[in-house]
Amino acid sequence: MFELNSDRQRRVPSSFSVPQEECIFCKIVARTASSYRVYEDEQYIAFLDTAPFAKGHTLVCPKKHGETIWDMSEVEIAGLFKVASKVSMAVVNAVGADGFRFVQNNGEAANQVVAHVHVHVIPVKMEDKGRFAGRKSFGPEEMESTANTIREEMSRLT
Ligand SMILES: [Zn+2]
Repeated sequence: MFELNSDRQRRVPSSFSVPQEECIFCKIVARTASSYRVYEDEQYIAFLDTAPFAKGHTLVCPKKHGETIWDMSEVEIAGLFKVASKVSMAVVNAVGADGFRFVQNNGEAANQVVAHVHVHVIPVKMEDKGRFAGRKSFGPEEMESTANTIREEMSRLT
């Protein structure tokens, strides 16, 4: 294991830090905040991004709170990306995408806005190749139906 927290390791500044009890993703894990959940196991959870870049844009998180990927062990990081990989298959199938992006931002400079580690799974269609679309907004019914379809696809993979 690397010594990520050694004195020589530069930290990434964040202005978005909040106490864990105010963390929106911890609230989603605890079900005190609502989400369009598509997958959950003992350690990880996946739910739709509410300001998605594309229909099906999903966030995959460890349930354990940590701000950046450096707060996770290598085993936890491997597990996170294993789940993200499976979620990507379900998302691509659900929305009929032709590709997908993993985006994982750490620190304010990298545009991380929620201080709880997460991997974005963003499906991309061929017609959107080379374009990076802005944030979109879908109504609750469409979000719920997208989440249902991803959940069904997930259940076929597990
Ligand atoms: Zn949290």
